[in-house]
Amino acid sequence: MRRLSILGSTGSIGTQALDVALRHRDRFAVTALAAHSNAPLLFEQVRRLRPAMAGLVIEPPEIPADLRFCDWVFGPECLVAAARAPVDAVLVSVVGFAGLHGVLAALDARHAVLLANKEPLVAAGALVTQAARRAGKALLPVDSEHSAIFQCLQGAGENRPRRLLLTASGGPFRTWAPADIAKATVTQALAHPNWVMGNKITIDSATMMNKALEIIEAHWLFDVAPQQIEVLVHPQSVVHSAVEFADGAVIAQLGTPDMRLPILYAMAYPDRLSTGGAYLDLAALGGLSFETPDEAKFPALSLAYGALAAGGNAPAVLNGANEVAVDAFLQGRMPFGGIAALVAETLARVPQAPTDSLAAVVEADGQARRQAQALLPVG
Ligand code: NDP
Ligand code: MG
Repeated sequence: MRRLSILGSTGSIGTQALDVALRHRDRFAVTALAAHSNAPLLFEQVRRLRPAMAGLVIEPPEIPADLRFCDWVFGPECLVAAARAPVDAVLVSVVGFAGLHGVLAALDARHAVLLANKEPLVAAGALVTQAARRAGKALLPVDSEHSAIFQCLQGAGENRPRRLLLTASGGPFRTWAPADIAKATVTQALAHPNWVMGNKITIDSATMMNKALEIIEAHWLFDVAPQQIEVLVHPQSVVHSAVEFADGAVIAQLGTPDMRLPILYAMAYPDRLSTGGAYLDLAALGGLSFETPDEAKFPALSLAYGALAAGGNAPAVLNGANEVAVDAFLQGRMPFGGIAALVAETLARVPQAPTDSLAAVVEADGQARRQAQALLPVG
């Protein structure tokens, strides 16, 4: 029986994690849950799963009488409390930089971290990977591409990969003309062809900033140089990523586009359990296609390589500026075409600095947010 804590239980990843945990009640006990403000859904989850602890960042007016059996924590500290609860693993599926303290608290408490929340690893890669090494605990990837790479590396022994082939669907605008992409609406940008996800990552997929974040994520998770990470556009989202070895062998992981697979793989690692989803029918698919990404159309990709080359605070600045830009776009405050440009401009304006402490990372994130806000169109 593996005891789990879930930070961000009310989101797209969080609810799918609970779905597979309930499917395998004999394997998982969910003992802590935390979310931001969705009290009605969290109450329903607490009613079903009966965790020992639950928390919300925004305190609701009241706790229903039948749910007072569990320890409730409110305010941002609920993430840290859930991360430190007595469990075997902590799934971090909060969105954005806000998950960083939870990730670090879980590692500090010597818990394995199942990481969906990529932004903390992007912003604070050195700190998070050092904390995992210090704890002697795994950082198990939940992001589908990184889970695929992790699966492909099982059994590789001492053989280091020559290249990581990070696949990308290309998002809804892959075939659009640049002038049309620049003025894409929120509804168009939220219509992802293959995946149903939270709003932030869906917009990131449309700009390909998601792939940019994933390049940085892969660098930290697998300790490979940026030039060993190649993005491959694969519109069907069936090959979730691949690894190339010295002898030319390419090992890939395939499956239907269903996040329950990488979530459950991390939860049950090294075991494989049924997700309840469909099995892959390759003959029915007929063909799979691959293409090189168009970096001129999707400038986010080169921003990621640039931020890795610059090092220090650059990845944190890229991430912080992107969070501001995505929010502003979703609120109708800036055009879609301005997102990558705002991130590039913020990177150019925030002075380079090292990020060798948590305080330095938090400062880099704050500086990026203030600079990006100042660059937003007025109105
Ligand atoms: P959602 O927006 O669907 O869910 C976000 C979750 O985090 C919710 O539980 C939300 O609570 C909580 N939350 C939001 N803001 C805060 C905050 N400031 N403090 C604490 N909790 C907060 O996001 P997704 O599930 O789509 O994504 C979660 C993470 O996983 C992201 O980092 C994303 O990049 C990554 N990921 C997601 C994939 C997907 O398929 N969705 C695939 C691969 C990676 P509430 O509901 O109360 O607001
Ligand atoms: Mg991904």
